[in-house]
Amino acid sequence: MVVTGCLGARKADLQERYPELISVSGPQDPVPVVNAVRAHAGARAQEPAHYHLGPAGVKLTPPHYAYLKVSEGCNHTCSFCIIPSMRGKLRSRTLPDLLEEADGLAEAGVEELLVISQDTSAWGTDLRRGEMRGTTPGDALEVLCRELGARFPWVRLHYLYPYPHVDQLLDLMAEGCLLPYLDVPLQHADPGILKAMRRPAAAQNTLDRLRRWRDRCPEVNVRSTFIVGFPGEGEREFEALLDFLEEAELDRVGCFAYSNVAGAGANDLPDQVPEPVKEARLERFMSLQAEISRSKLARRVGQELEVIVDSVSGSIANARTRFDAPEVDGMVRVRGAGSLRPGERTWVRITGADTHDLDADYLGNPLKFA
Ligand code: SF4
Repeated sequence: MVVTGCLGARKADLQERYPELISVSGPQDPVPVVNAVRAHAGARAQEPAHYHLGPAGVKLTPPHYAYLKVSEGCNHTCSFCIIPSMRGKLRSRTLPDLLEEADGLAEAGVEELLVISQDTSAWGTDLRRGEMRGTTPGDALEVLCRELGARFPWVRLHYLYPYPHVDQLLDLMAEGCLLPYLDVPLQHADPGILKAMRRPAAAQNTLDRLRRWRDRCPEVNVRSTFIVGFPGEGEREFEALLDFLEEAELDRVGCFAYSNVAGAGANDLPDQVPEPVKEARLERFMSLQAEISRSKLARRVGQELEVIVDSVSGSIANARTRFDAPEVDGMVRVRGAGSLRPGERTWVRITGADTHDLDADYLGNPLKFA
């Protein structure tokens, strides 16, 4: 077993706990991984590893979608998070470098590109002219999005910190350059808790922005994640979060019960919340969101939607709408779709809905990206 990435930065700790690991390396350090694989898989030492790669490079996703990591690290200091201490400050990849990788992915047949990083909306803020195009952070990100939108039928942005220039992206969604999908981790809604988390904004500002986002792109679906049971969260603060959730009517929501992480500033905060209280709040939070999700998905029944197929089993295709990312969001079970193949996009009519997923009938004719 080989470990690489964030936790690999704690090499000594991991090796002590798991002596059977054959290699441990930190983020952005592929050489030890390649060496370990060579040594243990008996690869011929003279054979360059890239001989075995196609135009998409090393790709661990199904052929029709891929992740594009646009930057490493983060300049924020959220008190519950140790990512900046492990991955360092923001380091954006240059526009030419990103477009070269994007071209390879497009050439390999990728239909859906998922743009990721620790802080995607900060992309480019640390670059010089020539390494990106645009004079403001919003313009630079817009150029990148337009370039990607010209290469892939579906481009989805993940992990957008709610900077003001995020509003600009809604216009690109409305015109079809980006999928109408906004993944903005909000973490909480109570101003005191947000302050202790060292996160921006208060609930009212966020509700106003949600309204503005929906005005600019009415079909936008908003995904977010939250933390319950953060130190100092009493019943009043938790109720404020539930009120926000009810009013915001977000489309997809993830929630975690807070837990201390070695090295995080929040560990030293007073008024830590007991475990049973955290668990009870997590359950209350998720059951309220389940109601919201059920009612929002029920409104989709009867609509005709574009979907992308992830897998086919017999006459049922497991697909996703433009509003759903792989792995984290819901699915559409499409009947009468045995002729479709993974990666094809098509139109379906929604016939039913439950808490997270949809049922649909296939309307025929897969779509092609021109
Ligand atoms: S939670 Fe996200 S924005 Fe905050 S410090 Fe961690 S990576 Fe950065």
